[in-house]
Amino acid sequence: MSETLSFFDQVNRNFDKAAAYTKHPRGLLEQIRTCNSVYHMAFPIEKDDGSIEVIHAWRAEHSQHKLPTKGGIRYDHRVNEDEVMALSALMTYKCAMVEVPFGGAKGGIRIDRRDYSEGELERITRRYTYELFRKGFIGPAIDVPAPDYGTSAKEMSWIADTYLALAQHDVNALGCVTGKPVSGGGVRGRTEATGRGVFFGIREACADAADMRALGLAPGIEGKRVVVQGLGNVGYYAARFFSEAGAVLVGLAEREGSIADPNGLDLEAVVAHRRATGSILGFPGALDLPDRTSALELECDILVPAALENQITEENAPRLRTKIVAEAANGPVTAGASEELYRRGVMIVPDMFLNAGGVTVSYFEWLKNLSHIRFGRMEKRFEERTNRRLLDVVQKLTGHSMTEEEIHDFARGASEEDLVNSGLEETMVTSYQKIREMRRRHGDVPDLRTAAFIVAIDMIAVTYGDLGIFP
Ligand code: GLU
Repeated sequence: MSETLSFFDQVNRNFDKAAAYTKHPRGLLEQIRTCNSVYHMAFPIEKDDGSIEVIHAWRAEHSQHKLPTKGGIRYDHRVNEDEVMALSALMTYKCAMVEVPFGGAKGGIRIDRRDYSEGELERITRRYTYELFRKGFIGPAIDVPAPDYGTSAKEMSWIADTYLALAQHDVNALGCVTGKPVSGGGVRGRTEATGRGVFFGIREACADAADMRALGLAPGIEGKRVVVQGLGNVGYYAARFFSEAGAVLVGLAEREGSIADPNGLDLEAVVAHRRATGSILGFPGALDLPDRTSALELECDILVPAALENQITEENAPRLRTKIVAEAANGPVTAGASEELYRRGVMIVPDMFLNAGGVTVSYFEWLKNLSHIRFGRMEKRFEERTNRRLLDVVQKLTGHSMTEEEIHDFARGASEEDLVNSGLEETMVTSYQKIREMRRRHGDVPDLRTAAFIVAIDMIAVTYGDLGIFP
């Protein structure tokens, strides 16, 4: 039944399930779940051969309860209005959940980026930015895009450059978009942020001995069998952080097919093989599986769908053999499939929490742009000097002398990257604890997604209350 629901309806179905646990007035709940504004634009661009093509694109701003609104821009031939609205709603709940003070938004351009030259992509991106600007859909205090499926730092720098040309008198103009290259106003650690956040989130979930016991697992990441779908920015870094923490990567799925190796795949070697051959298939020592989603059905402890929405449906959910689903993508498990998995005792760590690392570090980038200073610049050396003095005292008192290398290691002041990663870790750990506490408080709340939604709804309701709109 649920599979006939649109993506936005599915998000709202999850919302309604959680809203039933709250006591907020109906009108307020309706305001929270509604998508406030959607802008559908069509514009012409000139192709390299001189022909003209009309491009369709969207930007949805789901909620302005906090400003600016925030969310990525995806380039994909499947982009449509419903998808953009659903994803913008998820951004609202995600930001509220992890206490990032933004409303939710999402954009999309309906193109397959492989069909366009770099020059054409640049023209499309700049024209899209111009259209957003004309209608007041972009700006550091209005709506701040970021990378998403099919986009990266390069598109973000085109957006920033176009916006800067249009808003010359705005001293904060660089804060109009995040995920920029570090040399162009970005922040260190943003590229890896979503994957790193996925790792921190799952590490926290796996640290709970009682929850792990219920799944028949030992606490900790080490030795856990992991399958990852998608080797894009999110999937690649998630796989890397899991591997570095001692998990075993037993399967990988990509658009061209999937592979398995129960003894563990060497991620970097697979990536090198793919770069050389154009495919993960045929990787020496690994088994090629029948199709691109087969790896999802491998026996494992943690399944990480890190590609697109609607990958785990009522059709394939019964065949899954994982204990934990780590939603690194947005909306990878349909509402119907979630119910099926809960029935079988599978733990789903929900997207609105688990992939929030990206927007969290986007928040840090935006703060850096508004403050016009790199994190750590003021205190790094001061900290180091203080630490060195402290170590001197310790050495004198203990009679133990440290090598210069040890001193350097202990005394080092925090760099921008250290601060960003530590802020991300703090966000993911405390947010997971909030979800877990909410689930336990409502002894009858069955799942982490519902608990996360309740946390988010309560946060947004408080903001509306503070604004005096729904006292
Ligand atoms: N596109 C990412 C997401 O879905 C990042 C959004 C952002 O940084 O604004 O969360």
